[in-house]
Amino acid sequence: KEREWKGPFYFIQGADPQFGLMKAWSTGNCDSSGDEWEQEIRLTEQAIQAINRLNPKPRFFVLCGDLIHAMPGMPFQREQTKDLQRVLGAIDRAIPLVFVSGNHDVGNVPTAETIEEFCQTWGDDYFSFWVGGVLFLVLNSQLLYDASSCPALKQAQDLWLDQQLSLAVQQKCQHAIIFQHIPLFLQSIDEDDDYFNLTRSVRKEMADKFTKAGVRAVFSGHYHRNAGGTYKNLDMVVSSAIGCQLGKDTHGLRVVVVTAEKIVHRYYSLDELNEKGIEDDLMELMKQ
Ligand SMILES: [Zn+2]
Repeated sequence: KEREWKGPFYFIQGADPQFGLMKAWSTGNCDSSGDEWEQEIRLTEQAIQAINRLNPKPRFFVLCGDLIHAMPGMPFQREQTKDLQRVLGAIDRAIPLVFVSGNHDVGNVPTAETIEEFCQTWGDDYFSFWVGGVLFLVLNSQLLYDASSCPALKQAQDLWLDQQLSLAVQQKCQHAIIFQHIPLFLQSIDEDDDYFNLTRSVRKEMADKFTKAGVRAVFSGHYHRNAGGTYKNLDMVVSSAIGCQLGKDTHGLRVVVVTAEKIVHRYYSLDELNEKGIEDDLMELMKQ
């Protein structure tokens, strides 16, 4: 039923609740797990409260990775996971949660074991789903970042992705949209490699694959700042964090409206979304 276009809808994108980073960042030791995460608990509670207040309800809430700060095998991994699951448990049951794996969730150099652990805790690391005629693909960007310890898993995702993208073309979806933790790029397809983007060769290959299949947008996190750019018809959208800010943005969420022709999105601070909800011009788009 969800393969058919029935009119505009919206969803909420969030990224990097990353329980533990604010403490680790404040002590200047980001490689530690962060031994407190009270602030992130409050911010994520605020995010859930804002989402629960929205009317009409979003079709889903996608969390684009770095769910917690403790990497696999580090202290507090279990405690941070448990607390995040408890906070997310307060979401309206009519709003499905979609989880994307980040580098902190499966490790900078993921292994079969760390990915399996993620899947056991949060669900598959890559998968697709349909909502109202739109095909959504969730990718494990760590397999694009460094698959040296699990080459077979990278190969499997690559093969699956190619199949999904050809399906997107055959099945004439209204749009195809991708979620992955690490952005392809932060501003431009030609920018230099750094910690926050995928390498030039990988990003170019992926971006060309996506645009050829008609993918309209990629939504990411990881940067803890809002950023983005376009490549051909592809909109690369980088959203700041629910948790720790590394720039001048506010803790927030992105509202994404999908209409027959376009994908319109706007980042809201948690306070703003809680107090005022979604602005009228975005709401208007959904009535068309
Ligand atoms: Zn990250």
